[in-house]
Amino acid sequence: MPPDVLKVAVIEDDDEDFVLVSEALKAAQRTRFEIVHAAGLAQGRLALLDDSYDVFLVDYFLDENSADSLISEARRLSHPSPLVVLTGADSRDLDDRLIEMGAADFLPKRELAPALLERTIRHAVDRKQSENQMARLVKQDALTGLGNRQLFEENVERAISRARRHNGSFAIIFLDLDRFKEVNDTLGHHVGDLLLILVADRLQRATRDSDFVARISGDEFTLLLDDIRETGDAEIIAEKLLDTLRSPTPIHDVTLNITASLGVACFPEHGDTPMELMQKADMALYESKRAGSGRYRFFSQEMQARLERNIDMEQGLRHALDAGELSLHFQPIWRLSDRRTVAAEALLRWRHPAGYMVSPAEFIPVAERTGLILPVGNWVLDEACRFLRRLDDAGHSRLDLAINVSPRQLGPHTFTETVERHLAAHGVEASRLELELTEETFIETGDEMKSLLTDFRKLGCSIAIDDFGTGYSSLRYLKHFPVHRLKIDKSFISGDGADVAEPAITQAIVNLAKSLGLTLVAEGVETPQQADFLLAEGCQFGQGFLVAPPMEADEFIQFLQNQHRDGPP
Ligand code: C2E
Ligand code: MG
Ligand code: MG
Repeated sequence: MPPDVLKVAVIEDDDEDFVLVSEALKAAQRTRFEIVHAAGLAQGRLALLDDSYDVFLVDYFLDENSADSLISEARRLSHPSPLVVLTGADSRDLDDRLIEMGAADFLPKRELAPALLERTIRHAVDRKQSENQMARLVKQDALTGLGNRQLFEENVERAISRARRHNGSFAIIFLDLDRFKEVNDTLGHHVGDLLLILVADRLQRATRDSDFVARISGDEFTLLLDDIRETGDAEIIAEKLLDTLRSPTPIHDVTLNITASLGVACFPEHGDTPMELMQKADMALYESKRAGSGRYRFFSQEMQARLERNIDMEQGLRHALDAGELSLHFQPIWRLSDRRTVAAEALLRWRHPAGYMVSPAEFIPVAERTGLILPVGNWVLDEACRFLRRLDDAGHSRLDLAINVSPRQLGPHTFTETVERHLAAHGVEASRLELELTEETFIETGDEMKSLLTDFRKLGCSIAIDDFGTGYSSLRYLKHFPVHRLKIDKSFISGDGADVAEPAITQAIVNLAKSLGLTLVAEGVETPQQADFLLAEGCQFGQGFLVAPPMEADEFIQFLQNQHRDGPP
């Protein structure tokens, strides 16, 4: 039941009509109407941004325009109060259209009998209330009682309209609990659920009534901080949120110490649609997580530039394969003792249609994130096998070729078969192909790795650990996994000077490889001093600019030809 006092905005540009409507409202029997006059479209729009009205009474013809735009605006804002339209002409077409557009009801102006007007308004308010209630249930997160993503978006939409009118600003925050999965996995979903409820409660206590908190998925919460004048204000709130969440959290018989990560985006600096703002807060959250747990980050121009580059790159990369923009370059791996080439590493290159080369260090992460690494990786595999065939035909049948394999490629269990198929298609022996995997691959894929590596060994391929020393060096896998070769990361070898950048680490890795019976390749050998040091320590192989950079296929074969002719230096 609607209350007995209703605040009504009468949006009417004709003063005489306004008086008529007011009289009818004042004559109502059960309801006392608090009447506010909005004398045109512009004022009507302002009134729509005010949540204190219970109902809007709108003249259909306003300032020589129709009220269509106003009705659509109310719908776009999901306004919680109904709009009743006063029509002049009684055309059925118009009536139907009004309802379709979102008006709650309509009344021909000449039927403005007080009783009918009052009843129409009360019905409209009543209906809208149950509609809202239903909508709230649909838009509510059942676990925490907070709003869900849809409701959050609607609130942001309204905050945008409000802020535009008043030249205001606000902030939205994406918040994600750190290591929530661990809580769920170790203590059970029940505890996980209780934790989420507690967090929801703390977030609501830490914010003002005019702010809005939602849970948009698993352990991801969003906050709308209304009327934030300066970045400093949002910073203070972000700190406060991190603080409240940090205090010890007793659940049942355990006390959890949780932290959260936050990403912040502001209107109008960072975007002017809910989607854009949410995307940017999410991106800031991602960056904040990457920097470690328990922090917040504001969206920045730098992130923006990275975002754009990544989107561009993703789109470009999708075409690169079909457009033939990818190629393999080959870099010799040589014996340190006589600098003779014994193998090569295939390194992917992308010539962007704009003419410049994109570094694999830049596009491989994008390919991994988007899943494009699977087709790209298969292409590399095929191209490498084709090149091995070509080496055979050119009389270099003892040269091995290494390719880089990303962890994502190992996910599908068919990878060994894929390798086998490509080798067979080009008629090359498996023993000629080496797979370079980084240390992270071993950490990420854990024990499954062992069976996969065993499969590769059965097939006849050898395995090298790339960039050795930069990962989380769990030496366990070195001992237990069938690995053949380590590649010392180039950051330990080359630096500013001619000498070895990290001699102590290099020595330690050489000794480790010796004791495990693994062969060793030093990457990034740029100077004779580095080569001499490595040789003296007992490292067998090198790769680096000292002998040759990565080269195109033809150039590489020419290089081998020359080396053959000239003999060792
Ligand atoms: P990586 O496998 O460690 O490759 C060695 C990198 O060191 C190459 O960079 C190579 O050009 C560079 N390099 C060679 N000699 C020297 C030297 O003397 N000094 C210095 N400072 N650098 C040297 P590149 O070609 O830019 O490749 C970067 C990374 O991208 C590779 O590191 C590898 O992790 C990844 N990558 C390249 N091709 C592929 C591929 O086909 N698939 C996958 N998944 N990753 C690839
Ligand atoms: Mg490599
Ligand atoms: Mg490397």
